[in-house]
Amino acid sequence: MTKTILTTCPYCGVGCGISATVYEDQRQIKINGDHSHPANFGRLCSKGSALGDTVELKGRLLQPQVYGRETDWIEALDLVADSFKAVIKKYGADAVAFYGSGQLLTEDYYVANKLMKGFIGSGNMDTNSRLCMSSSVAGHKRAFGSDTVPNCYEDYEHAELIILIGSNTAWCHPVSFQRICAAKEANPALKIVVIDPRRTASCDIADLHLPLASGSDAWLFNGLLSYLYEHDALDSAYIEAHTEGFIESRDSINNVSTVQVAEHCQLNAEDVQQFYDWFVHTDKVLSLYSQGINQSSSGTDKVNAIINCHLATGKLGKVGSGALSLTGQPNAMGGREVGGMANQLAAHIEFSDVDKVARFWNAPHTTKKAGLTAVELFDAIHEGKIKAVWIMGTNPVVSLPNADKVKQALQGCEFVVVSDCIANTDTTALAHVLLPAQGWSEKDGTVTNSERRISRQRALFKPAGAAKPDWWIITQIARRMGFETEFNYQNPVDIFREHAALSGFENNGQRDFDISAYAEISATEYDQFQPTQWPVNAAYPQGRARMFADGQFFTPSGKARFIAVTPRPPVNQPTADYPLILNTGRLRDQWHTMTRTALAAKLNQHKPEPFVEIHPNDATHYGLQANGLAHLESQWGSMIARVQLTENKLGSVFVPMHWTEQYASHGRMGALVNPVVDPISKQPESKHTPVRIRPYTPVWQGFILSRRELKITDVDYWIKSKGDGFYRYELAGDTLPDDWRDYVRKNLCNSTAENPQWQDYQDTAKGVYRAARLLDEQLESVIFIAADHHLPERSWLSMLCAKAELTKAERMALLTGSPPVGGADVGAILCACFNVGEKTILAVIKEQGLTTHQQVGQCLKAGTNCGSCIPEIKALFE
Ligand code: SF4
Repeated sequence: MTKTILTTCPYCGVGCGISATVYEDQRQIKINGDHSHPANFGRLCSKGSALGDTVELKGRLLQPQVYGRETDWIEALDLVADSFKAVIKKYGADAVAFYGSGQLLTEDYYVANKLMKGFIGSGNMDTNSRLCMSSSVAGHKRAFGSDTVPNCYEDYEHAELIILIGSNTAWCHPVSFQRICAAKEANPALKIVVIDPRRTASCDIADLHLPLASGSDAWLFNGLLSYLYEHDALDSAYIEAHTEGFIESRDSINNVSTVQVAEHCQLNAEDVQQFYDWFVHTDKVLSLYSQGINQSSSGTDKVNAIINCHLATGKLGKVGSGALSLTGQPNAMGGREVGGMANQLAAHIEFSDVDKVARFWNAPHTTKKAGLTAVELFDAIHEGKIKAVWIMGTNPVVSLPNADKVKQALQGCEFVVVSDCIANTDTTALAHVLLPAQGWSEKDGTVTNSERRISRQRALFKPAGAAKPDWWIITQIARRMGFETEFNYQNPVDIFREHAALSGFENNGQRDFDISAYAEISATEYDQFQPTQWPVNAAYPQGRARMFADGQFFTPSGKARFIAVTPRPPVNQPTADYPLILNTGRLRDQWHTMTRTALAAKLNQHKPEPFVEIHPNDATHYGLQANGLAHLESQWGSMIARVQLTENKLGSVFVPMHWTEQYASHGRMGALVNPVVDPISKQPESKHTPVRIRPYTPVWQGFILSRRELKITDVDYWIKSKGDGFYRYELAGDTLPDDWRDYVRKNLCNSTAENPQWQDYQDTAKGVYRAARLLDEQLESVIFIAADHHLPERSWLSMLCAKAELTKAERMALLTGSPPVGGADVGAILCACFNVGEKTILAVIKEQGLTTHQQVGQCLKAGTNCGSCIPEIKALFE
């Protein structure tokens, strides 16, 4: 039995629509882009396309657990409710906290916030969205009087100049990037400027890349504001009619010259001039920004420095013009709507108006003050001020800065509850109570993407095991805490109706977020809900694509505010001890802490191991070798990563954010990151931490490819990744075993399969050991050990693991690590959708004299589905 269900992707804030063909009996799905969804019109990236590979039950949390013991829901819920009540009674409401996630659906978020702020009476409800876009929220509120995203994705197709600021859109918001690429192809006059210290895949379509010094964005945009003034490029009528504070803002800048800006930002002055000229002489300018701006100790100021330039030229909220914050998570925006952050109340109501929320909820004890934000909250746990915490669908032991301290905080906390769909994460390992939540493909509700578009996320399968929706878990706890009537919801639509009604409650056009048109939505209408951009009310019954086109804002005067920005450098500067700047970010094919994407073999092939990008000159200076291992250390923690030489800015290094202790022994980058936060938004400065680096030189290195998952023990360094029909382990050790044959059989390839045939090769003088284990002519596992990182490529050997039977030639060639004559070695996989390797692409380029990525696509299909690998295919021509 199959059925087709329209839903949304659970990864990034683009919020793509998905058409899922569901084979319910087999718990399988076939994923296609939803051609009717206005966020993606059928496009999907590599992550969205691979969702079908992530719905397996292996690794799922299927049953409640209490102190490591499986139990039923009644015992678990009673224990959580009783424990929270006991802590509140003894220490007060501020001794408990919730920490949520942009993965929660709006309905889940709504009841969590209502319980904590309205009925427990504490502001201590924060979320991992704090790490992602709280600087945008704060910047919007300062400029517009409300947390309003002015523009929409349609503007990609209308803009004449698109500026990507601190945003590797190609990897982090790939479908938005595809739309921008298509817009540029349709209109070659469209200019693209990328402002980023790194040369990222997004530079592939850039007409100009400004690799500015880390953290210097506010200087660049203050310089632009000054340039606009000096070159008579202001929209004075707009400034006069629709803004306030321009004079103060302009005067605070002191007419900085382009040359001064270039010096400060470490840029070429002609490039700065070019950028400013394009901004001045282009009518439709769209600024897209994300974590490179937000994750900074001056992130809010940077947001306002960008918005100032749009206000000064009237280029805001108009077709093709404006400033659009690309949110990281699928429902970061939904969280903002319901007050998921500690300094927000529900429905964009401010604490100064708390009485409105309290009356609407009939909750007289609603907290009147903001709670602790993410870093503060875990500090308070560490200090023993918060005694009980409930973490919902997120992995703070990996993702928060100073992550080792977060781990210690949870280890010392009296009562830790984690609700999650995954059983083993770095955070679930520290929980006293585990509550199995439904995952994507099971849960049902709404999400809001970066352009304010609310869409449905729909259930595709029956829940796994005893898993329940987050809203159900939260409301069951609320009822047990004495709030039966107030949390008596039967389904998500009950919650959505209340959320919509609150948005319209005593609103009268004063608050931007108003979806009161849905206050009485029927269950059928909710089921058939079409993606719509808020507000949706009497004035805008069909929703509204762009805000502020009329020049009306949500400040008391109705005018937008210029904010005088005094640029500040990042707080912790490099020192003699920690001379390099660490930058962190996402990869093309992984999502957050890999709990879901690491299940899809095709997503693990692009970058299978934690790595550090470093400029070749810096690598030489610090004695590092390409593909060798490096030890990185900051004042806060350390990690080990594989060295990749890139045209990184001198003096800086980049590491991906994804690896956890489930997949790497030393790959948790959060341990390194400084816990400095922006004083206004409280967003951590995750893009700038002083670190040092040195070679990590174990006495041996190696890898195992195995058809079965192995239990690796007694190894100093390891990473694990799932391949197509095999598991890959990269290994290193600080001591040599007495006997490799014995060690490998006991510690590494220790499955109990009977009568394996072993092939062994050892050259003790060179530190080389190689072995293969076959069962009935099938390769079970292969292990290669060397004295350093010079080991064979894994691609051919991993293909052998998937074969039912090896040929004689393959068996003979096995321990050489290279295919027999005529055999194919595809190289590292570049195209995850069609499994096409680098060597295959290079071979056809050479053999057939290809010159474009389109020709490669015609030959091999590579790059013709999601297109995420096109920048890397293009790079091969160079
Ligand atoms: Fe999902 Fe990719 Fe779309 Fe983001 S761009 S929502 S990850 S399919």
